Amino acid sequence: MTPPTPDSQPLDLLARPVRDLRISLTDRCNLRCTYCMPAEVFDHNHVFLRKDQLLRLPELDRIIGAFVRCGVGKLRVTGGEPLLRRGVRKFLHGLRRFPDLQDIAMTTNGLLLPELAAGLAEAGLHRVTVSLDALDPGIFGAMNGRGHQPGRVLEGIAAARAAGLGVKINMVVQRGVNDGEILPIARHCKREGLVLRFIEFMDVGNSNHWDPAMVVPGREILERLAREFALEPVSPAQYGEVAARYRYRDDGCEFGLITSISAPFCRDCTRARLSADGRLFTCLFASEGFDLVGAMRADNLDNEELYRLVAGLWSRRADRYSEIRAGAAGGAPKVEMSFIGG
Ligand code: SAM
Ligand code: SF4
Ligand code: SF4
Repeated sequence: MTPPTPDSQPLDLLARPVRDLRISLTDRCNLRCTYCMPAEVFDHNHVFLRKDQLLRLPELDRIIGAFVRCGVGKLRVTGGEPLLRRGVRKFLHGLRRFPDLQDIAMTTNGLLLPELAAGLAEAGLHRVTVSLDALDPGIFGAMNGRGHQPGRVLEGIAAARAAGLGVKINMVVQRGVNDGEILPIARHCKREGLVLRFIEFMDVGNSNHWDPAMVVPGREILERLAREFALEPVSPAQYGEVAARYRYRDDGCEFGLITSISAPFCRDCTRARLSADGRLFTCLFASEGFDLVGAMRADNLDNEELYRLVAGLWSRRADRYSEIRAGAAGGAPKVEMSFIGG
């Protein structure tokens, strides 16, 4: 698919436009998922960002403005756990001044949704993606590193739906850990009419003990589902869509596979990521980000200059880590997933 791009919107060196901006509101989290922030690494000795190091919300607002001008229409708020960031409602409310943002989403572990969902919907959030890796309490408790039970997340999902938010579910699949939960979660989501996305366990960061043997390829997930359900593919809704989409023939409920390991999709990658301290990463697997907020402050940039800076940075982008992963082993350390969000 060829991306439609007005002249004022930059293309990177591989002719990809920027369409999605993912913003990490905090590097902190109330869970310690073993594949993301293992408790033995993110313990009391780990140094998180101080409050004064976090990107200030008015600065964030200006950065979003620059990205919208570059062509971003989708915004995802993530983390760490984004619901731990104070002022998240106010921030969402402020996004109303960008009518070109057609899609405002949040990825969350769901623990705080029971209390917060209604306020988030009121503030202007369109949808949430809630992470749920197992329905089995033992497996879920072990994977989230804090012994939390899935019941609380299910309550969060119910609260989000009651508030009128769109809801998708993310499940990171690890062989020998929760691959036995593929069918139970699929059945649950199908019954509830929830779109589920299976995510291959990725080699993000440097501390999650990634092992290719623990990756369950999307193809295998599909085969397991096809033994129980009649399935059919759904064509991609838009350029840059990362999930391979399918639906159950009997009720039309959809699910997706995010196969960044077994079938990388860098060719269509239209995503930029902003860390909680204001650094721009043009790839999930980058080792360094550009200190956008530092440049804004040092040079006292006005909005026009900020737009030019962002457009220039995007136009020099050549990232395609997932496509060259095999040859990239042993390179520079990568940024942690909890720092820039998924
Ligand atoms: N705390 C929120 C949550 O868990 O939904 C948002 C941040 S989390 C980093 C965003 C997404 O990345 C989650 O769905 C999580 O499951 C996924 N993720 C984290 N580490 C991953 C890994 N190593 N491989 C694949 N997905 C991962
Ligand atoms: Fe926290 Fe989300 Fe990472 Fe789990 S996946 S540790 S909930 S940031
Ligand atoms: Fe995009 Fe980098 Fe992932 Fe490729 S590896 S899809 S360029 S974020």
